[in-house]
Amino acid sequence: MSRHTQTRGLGGMLVRRDNPEYEDLRRSAVWNGLTPARFPDVIVRPATTADVVEAVRLARSQGLRIALRSGGHSWCGSPLRDGGMLIDLSGLRACTVDPASATATVQPGTTGRELSSELGRHGLAFPTGHCGSVAVGGYLLSGGLGWNSGARGPACADVEEIEAVTADGESVTCSDREHPDLFWAARGAGPGFFAVVTSFRLRLYPRPGAITSTTWNLPLADVAEVTHWATGVASELPPDVELSFCLASADPGTDASPKVVNVTGTAFASSRQEADEFLEPLRYCPLAERALSRQLDEPTAFETLYEGAASAWPPEHRYAADTLWSDSGFPTLLERLADALDAAPSSRSLVLAPVSPAGRPTQDMAFSVLGNSYVVPYAVWDDPRQDAANIGWLRDAMRAVEPLGTGHYIAEADLTAAPSRARRSFAPDDWTRLQSLKAQYDPDGVFRSYLSPDEATP
Ligand SMILES: Cc1cc2nc3c(=O)[nH]c(=O)nc-3n(C[C@H](O)[C@H](O)[C@H](O)COP(=O)(O)OP(=O)(O)OC[C@H]3O[C@@H](n4cnc5c(N)ncnc54)[C@H](O)[C@@H]3O)c2cc1C
Repeated sequence: MSRHTQTRGLGGMLVRRDNPEYEDLRRSAVWNGLTPARFPDVIVRPATTADVVEAVRLARSQGLRIALRSGGHSWCGSPLRDGGMLIDLSGLRACTVDPASATATVQPGTTGRELSSELGRHGLAFPTGHCGSVAVGGYLLSGGLGWNSGARGPACADVEEIEAVTADGESVTCSDREHPDLFWAARGAGPGFFAVVTSFRLRLYPRPGAITSTTWNLPLADVAEVTHWATGVASELPPDVELSFCLASADPGTDASPKVVNVTGTAFASSRQEADEFLEPLRYCPLAERALSRQLDEPTAFETLYEGAASAWPPEHRYAADTLWSDSGFPTLLERLADALDAAPSSRSLVLAPVSPAGRPTQDMAFSVLGNSYVVPYAVWDDPRQDAANIGWLRDAMRAVEPLGTGHYIAEADLTAAPSRARRSFAPDDWTRLQSLKAQYDPDGVFRSYLSPDEATP
């Protein structure tokens, strides 16, 4: 095929670097306001699986390496690489629900909010990401620690089958029976996966009849006592209560705002009464007289949960994030991170620490839980002149806890940091298996692998 014929085959879906549309498309490929200065040669926006096949074959024939994007929520901008082809899958967003089998077939550009709203019409649910704007593509490939994942396990554990276009441009079905090793990798490999997923078949569960939440808001200075109390209470809570700590400014965006620690339990139950019973152990806090505010058994809904997350991680801001699994307890980890937060140059920065964010998954897949505790510091700011200070803050915060680390979570790990987080985001045997599957399925390295610090121009 000549270059001209190939371009015409993909119609107006292909945009080269000299096209006036290019820069807007490149910038919008990343949700983070901190857009990396990395420039693909060509951006292709397929509308169908057949287009994806054609794009992969075109890239191969022109010697272009391929990067992929579904919703652009990679904090470190993994879809943007220098040179090669970016295939933007955001146009693939069909979502079909089969209530009889309690399954859904979902294309990668579908957001969690779109999926949840569609499932709501059928009385069904799925552990979508906490922010409704996160697309299922990169989320499911990375594991997916979403709403009620403590009970359900990581979202990828509920993937039954995928359709994927391989490096040789073939569309294949992968499940426990067909291409089981590619299916194994698709549940956890995240931004190093070596095929283009064009759809996922998901196992669903009944929509909770009631969702309620209890929140205690205390001064950050009390973080050690608060975490001692709440981690003790955690063992009394059923798995359907998602418990998390959040260290943040009381009034994000206001410089002199005092810092606080929030403890929130969100119950996913069949009825209001059951939800209240689930949250009972959180009703009495020994530090209650120091609490700045509290909300007990507050009825909520998935849509409200997405709104809450969107206010903590607002769009059009600049972000840097990193993750750490650890076997140290939350009191130790969060005391160190509270000290770090006190020194944050931006009052929007925060630290999230979900307790048991993935439960104890039993499936054999590339994702695994790598520690008993999990923390995620986020630098959040809006002034480009403060980029270096905020990225530096994140690195300092990580340095305070990294000696206690047992690994990272690939979905939100800062792959631009040295040493590379990719290898330490997997159990050692799983990492070895991923390398050998990559060599088997993509021997010519058509698909970009994990972003590494040496290609991470900010
Ligand atoms: C505001 C916000 C909230 C978040 N909340 C959560 C959360 O609650 N839980 C959680 O687990 N994570 C969360 N994340 C992290 C998120 O899951 C990852 O960034 C994930 O990669 C986002 O999916 P995406 O499709 O938008 O990724 P993109 O940025 O589009 O893609 C990231 C990488 O994934 C790979 N990829 C994407 N789509 C495909 C595909 N179809 N086929 C093959 N490879 C593909 C590519 O390598 C790509 O470079 C959050 C991120 C943000 C920005």
